[in-house]
Amino acid sequence: RCGYSTASSSQRLAGKVAVITGGASGIGKATAEEFVRNGAKVVLASELDADAACYTRCDVADEAQVAAAVDLAVARHGRLDVMFNNAGISGALTPVPLASLDITDFDRVMAVNARAMLAGVKHAARVMTPRRRGSIICTASTAGVLGSVAPHPYSVSKAAVLGLVRAVAGEMARSGVRVNAISPSYIPTPLVMRTMEEWYPKATAEERRRIVEQDVNEMEGTVLEAEDVARAALYLASDEAKYVNGHNLAVDGGYTVG
Ligand code: NAD
Repeated sequence: RCGYSTASSSQRLAGKVAVITGGASGIGKATAEEFVRNGAKVVLASELDADAACYTRCDVADEAQVAAAVDLAVARHGRLDVMFNNAGISGALTPVPLASLDITDFDRVMAVNARAMLAGVKHAARVMTPRRRGSIICTASTAGVLGSVAPHPYSVSKAAVLGLVRAVAGEMARSGVRVNAISPSYIPTPLVMRTMEEWYPKATAEERRRIVEQDVNEMEGTVLEAEDVARAALYLASDEAKYVNGHNLAVDGGYTVG
């Protein structure tokens, strides 16, 4: 078991086994906590170290390591019910004109944010389809829905995630497996705060956090938190979403609909 508290009034994932990539921080960490609170057994697959007991080191850009994380969940717990393809990187932080775009950076962003998600879907499907059940969730972004809100490589990679979900959902449905995307807007996770450090080098950490919460988010009177995305993932992971497939669940306060 992971080292998270399992105290909860509801157990919406009772008995289910989940792999979460990028589970060491931000959205992945909040989701791991939410899943465990709801009765799931979780294997965290991340390139960074983590306190959780069932952590496995995994660079998602390497398909063999993604396959190994899936196999670890099956070896430890006998099956895989939920695959949360969530690991991601921002790439170069400052938007540059197309003429100056670093193609090497583009390749790395695509490898981690898009190709790795295809690997995650592929290997989750490998163990889920024989049981004819499972939920695969991929973290996309508002940047994949709207243009001009992030550096181009990141936006392209997240649009690819949305395309991936649409591409495979029909085939997966015939095997009883659901594949959905979640598209959050901005949350002050380490990924976003690194961008803020570059854009506002003189501001304090608290000032940068306020910039994200006040200037970027759309909903008056509330801020988007990693836990909000975790609860969206909880819904898609649970049997409550048993007929939800090929969907992009925006968690953005209406940002992408204007
Ligand atoms: P984060 O930096 O806190 O978490 C990202 C995680 O991915 C980290 O644990 C990191 O170690 C892991 N990771 C990075 N490269 C990896 C690799 N090659 N192999 C394995 N793990 C790797 O950021 P976050 O905001 O929680 O990001 C999670 C997901 O949410 C990402 O896909 C990100 O693009 C997406 N997202 C974030 C926001 C936001 O505003 N924070 C908005 C929309 C989408």
